[in-house]
Amino acid sequence: MKELGNGTVVGILGGGQLGLFLAQSLARLGAHTSVFDPDSQAPALRHTARPFSAPFSEQSRLLAFAEQASVITYEFEHLPVHYLAGLGEHVAKIRPSLKVLEVAQDRLIEKKFLKAGGFPVVPFLELKDGDDLAKLQAFPLPILVKTVRGGYDGKGQTRLNKQADLDSFLPRLKERLSAGEVLVAEQVVELHGELSCIVGRKAKQSFLMPIFENVHQDSILDTTVFPAQISDELRRQVEELSTAIATALDVQGLLTVEYFIVKEASGLKIYVNELAPRPHNSGHLSMQAFNISQFDLLARLLLDLPVGKIEPISNACFAMANILGDCYHDKRLKLEALADAEGLVEILLYGKEEPRPARKMGHLITTGATVDEALTRARAVRLALSGS
Ligand code: AMP
Repeated sequence: MKELGNGTVVGILGGGQLGLFLAQSLARLGAHTSVFDPDSQAPALRHTARPFSAPFSEQSRLLAFAEQASVITYEFEHLPVHYLAGLGEHVAKIRPSLKVLEVAQDRLIEKKFLKAGGFPVVPFLELKDGDDLAKLQAFPLPILVKTVRGGYDGKGQTRLNKQADLDSFLPRLKERLSAGEVLVAEQVVELHGELSCIVGRKAKQSFLMPIFENVHQDSILDTTVFPAQISDELRRQVEELSTAIATALDVQGLLTVEYFIVKEASGLKIYVNELAPRPHNSGHLSMQAFNISQFDLLARLLLDLPVGKIEPISNACFAMANILGDCYHDKRLKLEALADAEGLVEILLYGKEEPRPARKMGHLITTGATVDEALTRARAVRLALSGS
């Protein structure tokens, strides 16, 4: 085991809120952190004693960052792998590995990997040249066309509900494909619900966090509740699949697996939506609800510390609501409303300057005797903070 407080530096690529909370967990275990982010105002970067703010293309800065780190992780998967691959011997310090990052940052590689491994994914179609246009026309509507890379929180997605949408989209699509873009068309499924499961992995050992249930609005996570209101059988399937996927990728660190629940004639069926090899927005509840948060888990894995059993600290139910830039008026939240917030156990504001619409500015966590009560409270507090 590494000696803590004795020069262990964990390098975090990406300086968003996930990096900030990870740095806090690491600090509580006596480790140092350094953060690399091109944006000098990124939340985690502002709080670290070892900030590295440069474009990823600045290889000398990236190398300096890698040299001072004992181990390197990331809080964002849309990183330029080719620059990271140029780090030579330091590549071995990156957890999860670049191979995992390559799979998770490309929707098509990810879906092909899942399909080949026998993991359930919704029907999809690769769009890369003119021949694929005919295949798209034969694909059942409604369809979501997604960019293969760089898309998150609904960015880069086009929904085609009816034939007319497809007809008007085709000429643009043709242009994009001839310009060399690759896209993926995905069948839109009617969601009965969405889940996420976070798995930690070290060597060949896996550590599962209890499952979260999520609701997205306009493709962005809106709320999460715990415990997930699912059957034992569904829980078992999610746990088994999540462990198997993390094992197939040989993840060292964290893997979040997002699922769709779809009602089919044979009953409820789950499909894997996406993989994120890092802490996840839907895991924020773990900071209040569990003995070990998702950030504590990753910190322990990175520092080679024992993990132990991850479990809820009480029988209470919890809800998390994201606070987006849309909740702000004149660049402010109505924080006076906190005085009357019922069931609120935590509000975290990330310190981002510009409250742009759809930008994640913070989140809040409420508790209740039932998930409905916790969720109603979370929504009420958020509404009051937005002054509505
Ligand atoms: P994504 O960025 O692909 O994870 O999508 C964000 C959210 O959009 C998901 O969590 C779903 O709520 C919704 N979504 C994405 N793909 C589909 C689909 N094929 N069918 C139904 N809903 C989808």
